[in-house]
Amino acid sequence: MSEFLAAIRSFIDERALPLEREFLSRPFAEMEPQLARLRAEVEERGLWAPHLPTELGGHGLSLSEFALVSEILGETPIGHYLFNAQAPDIGNCELLHSHGSAEQKQMWLGPLSRGEIRSCFAMTEPEFAGSNPVWMATTARREGNDYVIDGHKWFTSSADGAAFTIVMAVTAPDAKPHERASQIIVPMNTPGLELVRNIPVMGDVGSGYSSHAELRFTNVRVPIANRIGAEGAGFALAQERLGPGRIHHCMRWIGICERAFRLMCERAVSRELSPGHALGEQQAVQHWIAESRAEIDAARLLVLDTATQIETVGAHAARDRISLVKFHVAGVLHRVLDHALQVHGSLGMTDYTPLAYWYRHERGARIYDGPDEVHKSAVAKRILKGFGLKSS
Ligand SMILES: Cc1cc2nc3c(=O)[nH]c(=O)nc-3n(C[C@H](O)[C@H](O)[C@H](O)COP(=O)(O)OP(=O)(O)OC[C@H]3O[C@@H](n4cnc5c(N)ncnc54)[C@H](O)[C@@H]3O)c2cc1C
Repeated sequence: MSEFLAAIRSFIDERALPLEREFLSRPFAEMEPQLARLRAEVEERGLWAPHLPTELGGHGLSLSEFALVSEILGETPIGHYLFNAQAPDIGNCELLHSHGSAEQKQMWLGPLSRGEIRSCFAMTEPEFAGSNPVWMATTARREGNDYVIDGHKWFTSSADGAAFTIVMAVTAPDAKPHERASQIIVPMNTPGLELVRNIPVMGDVGSGYSSHAELRFTNVRVPIANRIGAEGAGFALAQERLGPGRIHHCMRWIGICERAFRLMCERAVSRELSPGHALGEQQAVQHWIAESRAEIDAARLLVLDTATQIETVGAHAARDRISLVKFHVAGVLHRVLDHALQVHGSLGMTDYTPLAYWYRHERGARIYDGPDEVHKSAVAKRILKGFGLKSS
């Protein structure tokens, strides 16, 4: 494992970081040819898709092993993409691997794991609170051997240029709330599926993989065979996907924190406030550095321990730990990035370092895959139940 980690580290340092400055100043779609060359190089070096099982061309790493890899990849905004370990494809691969039919695996999982296509996941709707995911209006009604899908989604990450989406749609309106919806594969070129626009996010409309789209489904017809798993199993599958998905984000955030920390320290010693007097001599900066170090180290231990728990008892039994780690590490990320940006002064606001990119794109960490408040309430309610609280 240590050799594997060293090989990944040297690829990130020697091949990925030199491309980063250009990546930060140009649209993703324009960078794709250069990124594709680096992806090919990752494959040639035998480092491709470390998280995937070996039968899918990966390295079959356990979750806690992948945590160590993901931390290194997270140090640059292009790391996970270069290794084909990026969300949302990573989650869709896991879902199809565990629950896809033989035909779905051949048609979608194979090309996805080989990096030939990309995918997205469309669940959230602009008109309904995403924090209450059972509440949605998108429907898939049966007509003969097909589903006909109508609905409106947004924040479908990476839809621009994706080959297919997995859409969450109500298939049994009268069933119990958690049994009403199913997950259905819809090729992005299906008639009636419109990518309305990429949504501007903090001043950046994005493109290609690095974007979030609004999608409209109008009489979109796909075979019933495109449904993943049983009818009505949509929420159960979403929970299965989101558990490991949340910890995947946390692993990546540790990498972002480490890079931001390094940049903060480098700036603290190189920037002089007056001749011979570095910024790092200021107590406020020293405190940010010490606090950040403590927070990152503690967050890493929590992530690794949660990964071990998921491996031992499964994502469902470890759901409280997943909620804890999700909001806790998102908060650490937020604070570390803020300190690092502050230490850089106006330079921190530019795209000459990755700090502003992360500040923009990772503010959402406290919102996506469950806002902080939802995770905190869920954990607290279960804790208080043990003390006798009767919850509504
Ligand atoms: C960068 C980014 C990428 C995303 N990618 C995808 C994607 O690929 N696919 C997809 O389907 N969706 C995606 N989403 C959507 C995301 O899942 C939703 O934003 C999230 O579920 C929250 O839903 P909402 O935005 O409707 O907020 P709402 O549900 O309207 O909540 C708004 C706020 O209310 C508060 N709140 C909500 N519930 C509670 C509660 N119980 N107690 C106290 N406070 C509460 C929280 O502070 C929350 O932020 C993405 C979002 C972002 C920001």
